[in-house]
Formats: sequence, C-alpha cells, structure tokens
Amino acid sequence: MELDQLRQEVCRTNRALLATGLVTMHSGNASGLHRPSGRMLIKPSGVDYEQLRPEDLVEIDLQTGQVVQGKLRPSVDLPHHLFLYRNIPEVGAVIHTHSNYATAFAAVGQPIPLCLTAIADQFGDQIPCTPYVDNQGDNIGRAILRWRNRAPAILLGNHGVFAWGATPREALKAAVMTEDVAKTVWLAMQIGQPRRLPPEEVEKWYTRYHSTYGQPPQP
Ligand SMILES: [Zn+2]
Repeated sequence: MELDQLRQEVCRTNRALLATGLVTMHSGNASGLHRPSGRMLIKPSGVDYEQLRPEDLVEIDLQTGQVVQGKLRPSVDLPHHLFLYRNIPEVGAVIHTHSNYATAFAAVGQPIPLCLTAIADQFGDQIPCTPYVDNQGDNIGRAILRWRNRAPAILLGNHGVFAWGATPREALKAAVMTEDVAKTVWLAMQIGQPRRLPPEEVEKWYTRYHSTYGQPPQP
C-alpha cells in the first residue's frame, strides 16, 4: 500500500470508529504506518470525526517522532502508537478506543475470558487486561508489551482498549470484535458463569480461522 492510499485508509478507519459506535466526541484514534518510508499517519487532536479529511491526518517520522507534514497537532496518544510500531514489527495500524463493554472489563481489571468460539477464532487467547498505568512517557506502551498475548488487542486497566493489525482494516476488525465479544460475555455474565474453552479446542478454531477462513487472494 502506498502512502497516499494509506492516508485514505487511515481517514476512513477513524471515521469508521464513530460509525461503529466505538468512540464518542473526540475520544479514541486510529493510525497507520508506511514501513518503507518510515512515515506514520495519525488522527489530529480534538478534531470531530465527521469533519476529518485525509489531508488533516498528521504525518510523523517513525524514528524521530516529529511531525513532518500537517498543520494540526497530533493525537495526545501519539507516543503509545509510536511505541507499538517501534517494538512490534508486524504492526501496521493501531487503534485506541474507550468502547463501552470492553472498557467495563478494564474498569474492574478483568480480561475478557476465552469462552466463545468467536474469541478463539479472532484472538486465540483471552483478551488480557494490564494493571493501571498513567499516560506518562512509554508507560502505556511498556504495559502493552509486557501483558499482551497473541491476541491483536488488549485492555488497559481503568482506561480502554488498544487493538492493532497489519493494515487499518485488520486493526478495525480487532477493535470492533473486541467490543462485540465483550458485549456478549457481559450478557453471559448476567445469567451465569462464562465457561472457558479447553486449549485444544481453541487451537482448532484459531488455526482454521487463520488458514482457511474467507476467500483466497484474487490473482
Ligand atoms: Zn484513552
């Protein structure tokens, strides 16, 4: 994907956060990284999602963390996005939200337990929850690195959700699915105790989903 195309994708993904109900007002943000040029694009701080245009995204140099293009100030969450790109080589897009059901788990410091085949498919593990950390320096980035498992999402204790993927589309899917399964598990908890899937069953679902699900790439 070229940088220009990524700019369109990152803009669309930010707007999709509002359309899918994962964010309200100015909360949350999405970014994308163009690894060949080392440039990342992130939502500007305090701009309405409805008003956001591709040219409003702030272009940042991954190495220096400095703005290289854009008139607006970048999201205050920029340092956490940079930290993830610098430390997880396969990540090409990052999303942060305070989506309600997932953040409810974060409020009580609980992971989202692996009790659904949909969680096994997409995440292959429970969605972990970090202890509370403040937003100074690399504290959030370090907590994510320390507590993450193979799931492309994590809950930040007392705070919200970080989700990621190779592309903005994948990161969006991880963010939407995190909220979707959080809602289902929360509903389940109103009527009983969620039952965990055995590890060997998880492996079956995860492997199938990550090898044969969907359509093969078009030639
Ligand atoms: Zn936040």
